[in-house]
Amino acid sequence: MPGAFPVENGKKETMDHAHTPETAQPDAALTGAVLADVAALRGRVRGPVFLPDEDGYADDCAGFQTAYQQRPSIVVGAVDAADVRAAVEFARAHGLSVAVQATGHGLADSTEGGLLISTRRMAGVRVDPATRTALVDAGTRWAQVIEAAAPHGLAPLSGSSPTVGAVSYVLGGGVGLLARRYGHAADHVRRIDVVTADGQLRQVTAERDADLFWALRGGQGNFGVVTGMEIDLVPVARLYGGGLVFDTPLIPEVLRTWLEWTTTLPDALTSSVGLIPFPDVPDVPEPMRGRFVAQVSVAYAGDAAEGERLVAPLRAIGPRLADTLTDMPYSDSAAVHNDPTHPHAYHSTNVLLRDLDASAVPAILAVAAPDSPAPCVVQLRHLGGALGRPPAVPNAVSHREARYAVGALTFAVAPGAPIDQKAHQRLAESLGGAALGHAPNFLLGGNPTAEEIRAGFDAATYQRLAAVKATYDPRNMFRHNQNIPPAVR
Ligand SMILES: Cc1cc2nc3c(=O)[nH]c(=O)nc-3n(C[C@H](O)[C@H](O)[C@H](O)COP(=O)(O)OP(=O)(O)OC[C@H]3O[C@@H](n4cnc5c(N)ncnc54)[C@H](O)[C@@H]3O)c2cc1C
Repeated sequence: MPGAFPVENGKKETMDHAHTPETAQPDAALTGAVLADVAALRGRVRGPVFLPDEDGYADDCAGFQTAYQQRPSIVVGAVDAADVRAAVEFARAHGLSVAVQATGHGLADSTEGGLLISTRRMAGVRVDPATRTALVDAGTRWAQVIEAAAPHGLAPLSGSSPTVGAVSYVLGGGVGLLARRYGHAADHVRRIDVVTADGQLRQVTAERDADLFWALRGGQGNFGVVTGMEIDLVPVARLYGGGLVFDTPLIPEVLRTWLEWTTTLPDALTSSVGLIPFPDVPDVPEPMRGRFVAQVSVAYAGDAAEGERLVAPLRAIGPRLADTLTDMPYSDSAAVHNDPTHPHAYHSTNVLLRDLDASAVPAILAVAAPDSPAPCVVQLRHLGGALGRPPAVPNAVSHREARYAVGALTFAVAPGAPIDQKAHQRLAESLGGAALGHAPNFLLGGNPTAEEIRAGFDAATYQRLAAVKATYDPRNMFRHNQNIPPAVR
């Protein structure tokens, strides 16, 4: 997501659950007998256990997304895989659903009742430079992996924001700064440790529980609680990257030039354009304050001189309000997109397109609607390259033929205000007809419907995911996510 301007502490007014899986069992109310067992759970786990009226409960429920709330009946602040197992076994014994939260960036909906496993205390990362891999625990943020990998001249396939949780990003596919060079982050996973609904801790690989390994990489958190994973690192120490910001009159030309330019690029260059109506507030730097701008974000995994040559057609468009393109260590890569780092309320949808050319510019500008009272950022991502190639070990990531993604990102205009849906409707109406589907990781908030969730996958993949779900989670214990209900057998 591009550098933006969210207001803080927005909360959606209606918290309806648009998608209730048919097979879900309603969460049992916590009766006296269950509450008595909570004491035993406390004795079994090393991390804290919180009930709604206890200190610590609110902190573990809070996350980056503030439009929705986790309101579970019990929180387990897991510190290791044994705690996760104990929590899942407790939920199973008492007929409770299980939600998982690391940072709260991807919270799709408000979660009522059930048991929340908070993984933020499981935040370890161990790099093996010899195998170019990292073991990443469930609650680890990308920033920690980047920092641990950098001394070895290595980098993870992280995305625009280093505060995002690494594990869930990978489970959702993961389209990062180096995406066109190396593909989806989910294409570079060697092992996943996961506690399934039966309470078993499984080490899942291409050889062991192969169906589950396939489903976890792309099918998100539907199949269990991942306690950690072994991921590939890539030999990238430095980037040529940053942003070029153009003022309003140049926006149509930026879009036309960028679309044409993307047809000429090597896979080592990944870029996007954000159309951003910056508000007139002191937090926004002076040249952009109060202006509707186009921000081109560039990450080139190559040398700076070649990077300069490649971006010359963009600079030739005209004067820039800001030009931060420079050679940088990968550890500074947050500067490429400048994503917001403080919690706020947002809703994001996207369409994946096989192709996009200058004829679509009026439709894209119509989605942006900078005069609208509700702020909306439109983002175009250049896909293709390695994203379009099948991984060495097949996984559930779909729509690989997409060469572009167009997304709408909207914010609450004031704390507690609802998030305006109009931009999302405009996106669906103007470009949805040509869409292959969408990227699940960029479907953020907004109570996604069953239809929206399905559109994250091609039909055969969705069917197979539902079948794997029926094997590993037949009662849909893990349903507080972009839920794929188990296939009916
Ligand atoms: C500012 C911002 C920038 C982003 N940039 C990118 C990007 O560049 N590329 C990209 O691909 N995506 C991007 N995303 C999307 C992001 O990858 C997903 O929202 C991801 O799910 C966030 O993971 P999290 O752990 O931070 O969030 P959380 O809200 O903690 O987790 C999201 C969901 O994942 C599931 N989950 C979490 N942990 C586990 C676990 N251990 N086991 C099983 N399920 C689990 C749960 O269902 C949970 O609700 C971005 C999101 C934001 C808000």
